[in-house]
Amino acid sequence: MSQTSQTLMEMYQAALTRFGHLKWWPGETRIEICVGAILTQNTNWTNVEKALANLKAAGKLNLPALAAMDMNDLAEMIRPAGYFNVKAKRLRNFIRHVMEHHGGDLDAFLAMATSTLREELLSINGIGRETADSIMLYAGGKCTFVVDTYTFRILLRHRLIDTDYDYEMIKELLESNLPSDAELFNDFHAQFVSIGKSYCKPVARCEGCPLEHLPHDPNRGRDEF
Ligand code: SF4
Repeated sequence: MSQTSQTLMEMYQAALTRFGHLKWWPGETRIEICVGAILTQNTNWTNVEKALANLKAAGKLNLPALAAMDMNDLAEMIRPAGYFNVKAKRLRNFIRHVMEHHGGDLDAFLAMATSTLREELLSINGIGRETADSIMLYAGGKCTFVVDTYTFRILLRHRLIDTDYDYEMIKELLESNLPSDAELFNDFHAQFVSIGKSYCKPVARCEGCPLEHLPHDPNRGRDEF
């Protein structure tokens, strides 16, 4: 096992011991996870939950209903998630893609080979890498690591990456140094988010952090990549 692999597993075990298994993603159905992944861009989950609740209450949280919805009605219903006009378009693009290219069969769409599915998701206007990987991992059960600002910040401060690492480089580092296990990728990402929200903020609060005992430099970091 390489030093990087060992460090990553130590990080995961320490976080798991503190937080327990985090049982992500908070969604009941695959379509709910996909919609949530698209709506969560640039907002917090509480706002997404309100938008999902609106759709659910109106009986619209399914592909045919979403596909048939008027754009303004859709935007109004997801208003709590913010940037609702932009997000309505992104949702519509995603729904249309599955309807037009996969006959509306979301399960068949998500069952495609990992590389093909990622390529297709990234070809949809408004679906970026983090959203694509979230859909693949949490709705599709694919072995793909979701990278976000928290992941970047924690790995940088623990000297596993440098400031010039981009999304794909970080994803590659994680995937090549961890066992190929979707369950592990699922929970590891959730643990990174949990540490990032509570401790590894723009100004690190290392005291009490589950990773405090591991070598780190809290002064390294930038907020976006
Ligand atoms: S808060 Fe400190 S100990 Fe925790 S992950 Fe960030 S740098 Fe590491």
